[in-house]
Amino acid sequence: MNASDYLSYVKQRNAHEPEFIQAAEEVILSITPVLEKNPDLAKLKILERMLEPERLISFRVNWVDDRGEIQINRGYRVQMNSAIGPYKGGLRFHPSVNQSVLKFLAFEQVFKNALTTLPMGGGKGGSDFDPKGKSELEIMRFCQAFMSELARHIGHRLDVPAGDIGVGGREIGYLFGAYKKIRNEFTGVLTGKGLAWGGSLIRPEATGYGLIYFAENMLQSKGDSLQGKRCIVSGSGNVAQFAIEKIDQLGGIAISASDSSGYVIDEAGIRGEKLEFLKDLKNNRRGRIKEYADQFKCEYHATPAGSAFNPLWKTRAACAFPCATQNEVNATDAQNLHASGVRLVGEGANMPCTPEAINVFLDNGIAYSPGKASNAGGVATSGLEMSQNYMGQSWTREEVDAKLQAIMKNIHDTCLSAAAAYGQPGNYMAGANIAGFLKVAGAMKAQGVV
Ligand code: NDP
Repeated sequence: MNASDYLSYVKQRNAHEPEFIQAAEEVILSITPVLEKNPDLAKLKILERMLEPERLISFRVNWVDDRGEIQINRGYRVQMNSAIGPYKGGLRFHPSVNQSVLKFLAFEQVFKNALTTLPMGGGKGGSDFDPKGKSELEIMRFCQAFMSELARHIGHRLDVPAGDIGVGGREIGYLFGAYKKIRNEFTGVLTGKGLAWGGSLIRPEATGYGLIYFAENMLQSKGDSLQGKRCIVSGSGNVAQFAIEKIDQLGGIAISASDSSGYVIDEAGIRGEKLEFLKDLKNNRRGRIKEYADQFKCEYHATPAGSAFNPLWKTRAACAFPCATQNEVNATDAQNLHASGVRLVGEGANMPCTPEAINVFLDNGIAYSPGKASNAGGVATSGLEMSQNYMGQSWTREEVDAKLQAIMKNIHDTCLSAAAAYGQPGNYMAGANIAGFLKVAGAMKAQGVV
């Protein structure tokens, strides 16, 4: 089969799943030359098998809100591939969650986890539950109801979920408590746990820190660094907060943050007490980003509904880090980034740039890293949390951070060498897809048709 045959195959089997088709198409285009060079992998239908979840669980979640009314949500777990280890990947609670979104995330997770070099397969799950505006007790009741079904399908050697959009430390706590009660066991079944009950130092910081370590590696490969560079960051959740923190620590200037209502531009840089305010606003008070602008007297722009582009990406800068959600940067945004001087785009979110946007970056020589490589620090540190749980030990902050830095450098170098080996030097997207595929394909080949 050639690339267009694989594409028709995916479209025909997943006709109503646009996000999954988008993620699959990117991989198919990168992998076809690998299959031409390795006809044994094509004959074993490795790619076709990777495009099909090993197991997809969909379930009803009933819970009772504060007014005594019964609410019904959908819960999912996509167990995509376990060739190199137990399923591993986050849980997302957001009204946009559906089977297509979770299959795209689970598919990307397989490649990402392979790149970390740790023994983790790929999975993803979540619910269309919207945590916004819910009381603390409603969040707890929902987490308990969700886990009452999920508990049957996960386990510390089987499938180890973590957080994602809408699932942070608070939700992991309620989910872990419910699992422990149902199964009557204290095991590392989730990552992102609190430090007192099996969590790892640096796990909350890991995705954002890892993203910026990766960007620093990209810059260093060209004899440059983040020092003094203006950086645009979108989002204001877990990934964005710690990306902003690490940009500042490495001498860059993070000038923006956003949420689904709008964005702020702080020319002096988001740092120090301003960053602490942002963390408190989003993690504890659960307020809107506009309050940051009101507090520190800087620019706020509401994101225009239905606009063909997001004006945030027109801000003058050297680097851009989309850290909110999928498809938040389209081709027009990419052109705007190019025009405003951006020379590096590092994905903190999963698939935040559309295929057309990525083409703009590649055509204009903008260094671009795909989320499956540059945001892998989160799951890598989850892997380190699993190792500590298995061993019954806790590593220091310095130990975990050193391991995270080494993993990000290794992923960076692996992407570059795989891209070069297949005639696409400097293309991190091709390199990430090829290196991730080859690792998983080797394991699947060895394990037979199962
Ligand atoms: P959080 O829930 O902590 O934060 C998400 C941020 O993105 C919020 O600022 C939110 O704004 C914004 N956002 C969410 N959905 C939309 C939307 N549809 N339109 C505009 N803004 C939106 O999530 P995380 O920081 O954990 O995750 C962000 C991204 O990073 C996701 O793509 C996730 O898959 C990816 N990721 C996360 C990892 C982790 O360890 N947490 C690991 C690897 C990748 P608002 O509050 O208004 O909704």
